[in-house]
Amino acid sequence: MEWETVIGLEIHVQLATKSKIFSTSKTTFGAEANTQANAVDLAMPGTLPVLNEQALRYAIMFGLAINSPINKRSIFDRKNYFYPDLPKGYQTTQMDEPIVGAGVVEIQLKNGEYKDIRIHHAHLEEDAGKSLHEGLGVMNHGFSGIDLNRAGTPLIEIVSEPDMRNSEEAVAFARKIHAIVTSLGISDGEMSQGSMRFDVNVSVRLKGQKEYGTRTETKNLNSFKFMEEAIALEVERQIDILEDGGNIAQETRLYNADNKTARSMRSKEEANDYRYFPCPDLLPVEIDESYLKAIAAELPELPDARQARFIATYGLSDYDASSLSGDRHVAAFFESATNTCDDAKLVANWINGDISAKINAADSKISNITQSPVSAEDLAGLINRIKDNTISGKIAKQVFDCMWNEEGDADKVIAAKGLKQVSDSGALDVLVADVVASNPEQVDNYRKSEPDKRKKMIGFFVGQIMKASKGQANPGLVNSLLLKKLDE
Ligand code: ADP
Ligand code: MG
Repeated sequence: MEWETVIGLEIHVQLATKSKIFSTSKTTFGAEANTQANAVDLAMPGTLPVLNEQALRYAIMFGLAINSPINKRSIFDRKNYFYPDLPKGYQTTQMDEPIVGAGVVEIQLKNGEYKDIRIHHAHLEEDAGKSLHEGLGVMNHGFSGIDLNRAGTPLIEIVSEPDMRNSEEAVAFARKIHAIVTSLGISDGEMSQGSMRFDVNVSVRLKGQKEYGTRTETKNLNSFKFMEEAIALEVERQIDILEDGGNIAQETRLYNADNKTARSMRSKEEANDYRYFPCPDLLPVEIDESYLKAIAAELPELPDARQARFIATYGLSDYDASSLSGDRHVAAFFESATNTCDDAKLVANWINGDISAKINAADSKISNITQSPVSAEDLAGLINRIKDNTISGKIAKQVFDCMWNEEGDADKVIAAKGLKQVSDSGALDVLVADVVASNPEQVDNYRKSEPDKRKKMIGFFVGQIMKASKGQANPGLVNSLLLKKLDE
């Protein structure tokens, strides 16, 4: 039987406001537990929430960026449930009248094709606190702790239609949303800090079948890789059950990235289980056209526009432009380096190659390019030394490694390690003469061969000379000196 996967995502994005969505508490990441929660966050009697306008603006910016209608009137609802880290006993969220209406996001697939993913809506809501089951002294006595610092942190929840058909599309969509919110500057997008969390809804159906199958929701995935793994696991599980004649239970599941397994968390609840009702403490949000126009006028450059500009301005390929335009830090790094060394293609190669390899290898120590020990100016300096023939591209890799280890900029490393390319024909002549003298058989062969065969044979000698010079000989000069010598 041939199965088709259907995926819809719910994405929680933490908004980069300084204070919470309904209170003046700070939202700084990593603060000592319970130092950033005030009476409003703790739901003390007599306190009232006040909407943070910056959170509203950020949500509107997102809506404008994906060409969604912004609802001129939206309201906040109470979603009632008990959770130890939810002191109010309800989450303040938007249900019937969310701020952002339906929209579309275009993704690009590895085969170069484009696909539209529809957004059902996006709404504003508050985050809950956090239960801590480890790292606390009390843990030894079998207790858990509650940290309410995160309670009331502003989020937008972006809900897609079930338009994705495999994990590649789901990841491309998630990456695109990440690119949009970070380009807008409405979120720091730090997934390792929980600034972006994905709930993945997955179902399968037989190819050609019209109705969707029953779905499960795997909650709170905080990396693209985990998302991909969780989808693969869930698709396999559902197909196994269905092929054995079983039924899929609609449920919420948790993925454990450490041992790559998932388990059921709870059977799926329905909206009416939560007894949603409009929050009487908060006024409806009413905005007018001029308010929207003012926000629209200040929208920063979006990933698609940036990609087009990189192609037009710097002559980048579609691939390079797309890989460099998604993350605004990478984009800024690229432009800054290119403006200093004037070689967009080389800069693109270094960023997509050595720099991303180093960042990936550095694990969590370096989470983005702004923390790269080789700055954009440093990279441009290195590229300039390749272009003016001070060093070869091969030696440049060695220099780059030293720069990454903070041994100084390109000039300093080249001088300290004596890596300057040897372009002194006197010095190179000695090397050439040596290699020619110690390989009489190859020289003899060469001299007896036809010119077209000779071209291939010369590589052997060049290789020997480059090796003897530890890669520092100027390859062009070696070639001409060698030809002269062999023709003697
Ligand atoms: P609920 O209101 O019960 O949470 P929604 O209709 O709002 O359900 O859908 C929640 C998410 O699940 C959306 O992202 C949607 O695209 C996705 N979804 C809905 N049905 C399916 C399905 N059969 N297979 C995969 N994803 C689905
Ligand atoms: Mg839902």
